[in-house]
Amino acid sequence: MNTTEQYKQNKHPLDVIDDVYEYAEDGLSFEEIEERAGGGEWERLKWAGMYAQKQEGYFMIRTKVPGGKLTPEQAAVIGEVTDDLAVAPEEYGGEEQNELWGDAYLDITTRQDIQKHWIRIEDVPEMWDRYDEVGLTTVQGCGDSARNVLGCPAAGISDHECFNAQPVVDAVSEFFTGNREYANLPRKFKLTITGCAHDCAQSQINDIGLVPAKKELGGEYHYGFHARVGGGLSDGPRMASELDVFIEPEDAVEFCRAVAQTFKELGDRNNRGVCRMRYLVEQMGPSAFEEAVRDRCTVDLPESGEGLTEGYQGDHVGVHDQKQDGLTYVGFNVIAGRMGGEEFAEAARAAKEYGTEDASVRLATDQNFLITHIPEENVEDLLAEPFAQDYQPDPGAFSRGAVGCTGNEFCNYAIIETKKRTKRWARELDERIDVPDDIDAIRMHMSGCSASCAQPQIADIGFRGETVKLEDENSTNEEGDNIVEGMDFGLGGSLGADNEFVDWVENAVPAQSVLPALEQLFEAYGDERDDGERFYEWTRRVDNERLRRIMQGADAPVARGVAHGD
Ligand code: SF4
Repeated sequence: MNTTEQYKQNKHPLDVIDDVYEYAEDGLSFEEIEERAGGGEWERLKWAGMYAQKQEGYFMIRTKVPGGKLTPEQAAVIGEVTDDLAVAPEEYGGEEQNELWGDAYLDITTRQDIQKHWIRIEDVPEMWDRYDEVGLTTVQGCGDSARNVLGCPAAGISDHECFNAQPVVDAVSEFFTGNREYANLPRKFKLTITGCAHDCAQSQINDIGLVPAKKELGGEYHYGFHARVGGGLSDGPRMASELDVFIEPEDAVEFCRAVAQTFKELGDRNNRGVCRMRYLVEQMGPSAFEEAVRDRCTVDLPESGEGLTEGYQGDHVGVHDQKQDGLTYVGFNVIAGRMGGEEFAEAARAAKEYGTEDASVRLATDQNFLITHIPEENVEDLLAEPFAQDYQPDPGAFSRGAVGCTGNEFCNYAIIETKKRTKRWARELDERIDVPDDIDAIRMHMSGCSASCAQPQIADIGFRGETVKLEDENSTNEEGDNIVEGMDFGLGGSLGADNEFVDWVENAVPAQSVLPALEQLFEAYGDERDDGERFYEWTRRVDNERLRRIMQGADAPVARGVAHGD
């Protein structure tokens, strides 16, 4: 049995939540917590949504937001708590801790969570009390359990949806959160549920993805879901497999429970490196996995019907009509997902001030956010608000598609810095590169290590942090050695249409060489692209050897329209 399994057996991981109150009251240091708990508490704290930051004595805490949907009151509390409690201490620079964001900021994540940093154990009960008042939770934000349930950030308001699946998202989230029977799975368990044909909720890269479908049953059409299982990124990325099932909305909780039960019983608890559900689906094959789920499901699952998902790769940035007459939603662009706590609270205040009583703040999987239910006549005033100035809904293509993980500022696994670099590079690339007018977003995703929190595999341009030893002995970093930050360079990923992961075209590119390489690539793309061809499509038809030569400035663009596929 591996060490983590032993920790989970020694004490049920959900029991850590009650103990946090005691640790906070006694003001225990991390070592004292470990000593009192007899070891392993650092692992179990994940079930409280808490990760030890690399700065001793501080935690990152993750707030779950099912489907990304927040009431203005909830969003206000998140912003205010950030401003009050997630504040960088003086010993780490105080207001100057981060030169772009200061000392009290939050991160919108690719799983529609909110992450805060610099939380002290003493402050966690206060945060939870304030969360309780508005129905927010950090329970199972992390750990080997069902994580935040993803959904469409435009659920209930989009013209493209077949039905509003937010109630199903909420029901599934409620079932798993705090459920002791399913809170200790072999590894993390990721779900996504959408009723929209556009599937912005990323069903292909989750353990379970429920997508809209219809089926004739008893002489009439029923709307429900088809199921995809075993998708994921990180090392060993895999697109999910379709099961031959049709799930009525009222059976969705039971279906997800049966899949969790299957994973709980059959998942390999010995080797954490390969015990994600995608390895189980791959090993059993989708048909045998489906049979195992049917055996454990207490409702009948008819065979699949007609799938309603269409290929789509867009986002929610911009001003969009809602399906409700006269109402709009505004998708704000948050580069790398980071913004000030005060700004987020201001966005919540503005949602209330300019929106109808149904107004909400919604988090998207590309780290942006939406404010919904704004009468058309109020949009101009909303966009003129001070908080909105850095997040306008008409950004450059690189800013619009930029996603960054936490990186080495706080994350123990990170090899490189990501947040500041993502923001600076996106802004600089928007200045330096002319993207064709018909391309509104270039997806550039930067992960600080191979764990894929920024989803580099599904981006036009994916980066994965590396250290690089420069060959030129005269090139040194600030410390005077010739080891510098760099990244593996992936090209050609997309999700939603033409689903494919990036090809890792070049390894360990020094960070200082990346922007020039991108300029060369976009110059060649501009010269050679076919009508309407997107950047990822062009990189797929040009062979990797030539892409590498272009990146190094050693290859002239060829005549427009000439194919160079493998
Ligand atoms: Fe940390 Fe790696 Fe995840 Fe980035 S991708 S947040 S560096 S674990």
